[in-house]
Amino acid sequence: MSLASAIAEAIPGLQCSDSTPDRISYARDLWPRHMIAVRAGRIADHRPGVVVWPERTEQVVALVKWCGQEGISLVPYGAGSGVCGAVLPTAQTVVMDLKRLRRWRRFDPEAGVLDVEAGAMGIRLEEDLEARGFTVGHFPSSILCSTVGGWIAGRGAGQCSGLYGKIEDMVAAMECVDGRGEVVTLRRRTAGPDLTPLIVGSEGGLAVVTSAELRLHPYPARAFAALSFGTMERGYEAIRAIYQRGLRPAVCRLYDPFDSMMARRSAAKHAGQATTHQPTDGKDHPPPGVGAAALRTVLRIPGALNRAVDLLGARAFGGATLVLVFEGEPERIEAELGVARRIGIGCRGRDLGEGPARHWYDHRYSISYKLAPVFMSGAFADTMEVAAPWSRFGTLYEEVRRALGRHVFVMAHMSHAYPDGCSIYFTFAGSDRDEAAAERRYDEAWRTALAAALEAGGTLSHHHGVGRSKADALGVELGSGVEVLSAVDQAFDPQGILNPGNLLPPKVPPRRPLPPPPSRPELDSKSQLVHAAGDATLGEVEDVLAARGLTLGCTVAGADHRTTTVNDWLCAGAPGGPDPWLDPVDHLVAGYSATLGDGGPALQIRPCPRRAAGPDLFSLFFGTQGRAGRFHSVHLRARGAGAVPLLTPIDRNPALEVGEERWLERAIAAARGVS
Ligand SMILES: Cc1cc2nc3c(=O)[nH]c(=O)nc-3n(C[C@H](O)[C@H](O)[C@H](O)COP(=O)(O)OP(=O)(O)OC[C@H]3O[C@@H](n4cnc5c(N)ncnc54)[C@H](O)[C@@H]3O)c2cc1C
Repeated sequence: MSLASAIAEAIPGLQCSDSTPDRISYARDLWPRHMIAVRAGRIADHRPGVVVWPERTEQVVALVKWCGQEGISLVPYGAGSGVCGAVLPTAQTVVMDLKRLRRWRRFDPEAGVLDVEAGAMGIRLEEDLEARGFTVGHFPSSILCSTVGGWIAGRGAGQCSGLYGKIEDMVAAMECVDGRGEVVTLRRRTAGPDLTPLIVGSEGGLAVVTSAELRLHPYPARAFAALSFGTMERGYEAIRAIYQRGLRPAVCRLYDPFDSMMARRSAAKHAGQATTHQPTDGKDHPPPGVGAAALRTVLRIPGALNRAVDLLGARAFGGATLVLVFEGEPERIEAELGVARRIGIGCRGRDLGEGPARHWYDHRYSISYKLAPVFMSGAFADTMEVAAPWSRFGTLYEEVRRALGRHVFVMAHMSHAYPDGCSIYFTFAGSDRDEAAAERRYDEAWRTALAAALEAGGTLSHHHGVGRSKADALGVELGSGVEVLSAVDQAFDPQGILNPGNLLPPKVPPRRPLPPPPSRPELDSKSQLVHAAGDATLGEVEDVLAARGLTLGCTVAGADHRTTTVNDWLCAGAPGGPDPWLDPVDHLVAGYSATLGDGGPALQIRPCPRRAAGPDLFSLFFGTQGRAGRFHSVHLRARGAGAVPLLTPIDRNPALEVGEERWLERAIAAARGVS
């Protein structure tokens, strides 16, 4: 019996298809490496056995249970816009497209949330909310072709992350189905325990997300500004100053001189035309011909091309452009825009008026669809987004650029900023004599660039995720964290049916001994992060910060302050700590090291403002009373000027329900079991 017939018999009413067009359509995501294969004539090497379209959570549950019984792998699928090779089925795989699970279950402005099913498409969701006077504030460039479930599973970021945060900052609760077919609604709790960060970023491997309660904001007014800087460094120093002053521009993007020049050319081309945020229909791009041949030739000498662009530099291309968009109440955003502009000018920026920022906004989605013409020309293109604290940011930018630049032509912009660091988005293009050589060049560019990012102290991904494309590098970034993740995976999905082969590296990385914790708290003043031993008291940390006009922003009083250790405070859920809902861009802990169980293996997570490097293992320790292990050392945020709070009525610490408790116990037992 075919897979489709077996499913139809086991789960009557579940829509499924094993037609060739459907199997080809669901054979991959938008990992650009696939495009090289497609151009070489290999259209769909990885066709699934069958595609199914559940419409209700009960159908998802039935399917998960059936796949578990039969030992058949099941891949959750949103809109397939992922760019990391996270969907790669075999003929024995069921691909589960969730786009028919798309209803609004509860639109509740009074509670500050929308409960929406995971298959809802981004643009439709935002347009329907806008009509009611609200926004979720999540605007990935792929909003036209991505789903709520895909955003959550990939730990994505939208263009307005500078005010609303990333998707993990927007989810108040999620309904999930684990690999056993158990349904639980996980709720975010600011004092823990909170398992939502463990499922966000799990890329379809731990559970299927069937619905999410997303935070609502009133639909905002906007204010625009743009500045030009002689160097990228001056531009990103301005960004750092803006965020550390407590300002939160929703959009804050710094384009390198070449990228800025391309944007100006595009603006000139569109001048006089009606503005649109739709992707182009391809008419902008004439069929490949002489231009394509020239592009391929020049991309074969990337080193010389990058050097030429560097030599021409900011002077010829007219400087790096900073685009700022503030959102919120009109009076406040005008005032904040003025302060940000003055900071930029103080960093030797030149005021460009609001024109370039308005142009960027009007074309904010079309830019991402410009990779296709490069492939049509016979070359290849891709993007890489990494992040680091400010103190490592310059090194990250230079080293990754250098690593990529040996193999491909590179442009960059800084796109998601935080008080403690920022992400860099590299766009690159390359070519080689034939498709096999192009694939080798593409792989080598990625391999060396990821190694450079990790060596520089950055994360391998800020928002695209890991997939299969970065799984090896995840081993380098997480170290023993990979063993913990595998154990949690085994606990949630004992049959290993959910998206097998994705995210986790094929080989377990060697364990690394933990360096000793700092003997007294050490301040990284550039990033406003303080590195303290788990045994340091809050008082000791605050003493170091007070000398620099900074604070943890914690209201634990007097004597308690002097006796409570950082470990105890975090294991108790940071009582009196800053409320993350009020400033979703800031966070409490940027990195940490911890020992599992009673003196078990060590885990070391490098400091970073945000990352999309799989599930966040911090949730095993935070607010779980030391049951998973203890903090050895922690990189805490040291706060200066605070941001204007974004108020919300969302319940901060809802009661822990039985199902959640069960999942928590399972996750903690799995982590403790790593020995
Ligand atoms: C042009 C373009 C621009 C982009 N811009 C951005 C951007 O600005 N910001 C950004 O963050 N990303 C961006 N991306 C990457 C991509 O769009 C995001 O990762 C997006 O969140 C994927 O959503 P999707 O619904 O298409 O998921 P899919 O690609 O279908 O799936 C992605 C992963 O999530 C899993 N998954 C999907 N749905 C569920 C579910 N309900 N439950 C459990 N697992 C699930 C899948 O198994 C897979 O592992 C861009 C991609 C493109 C092509």
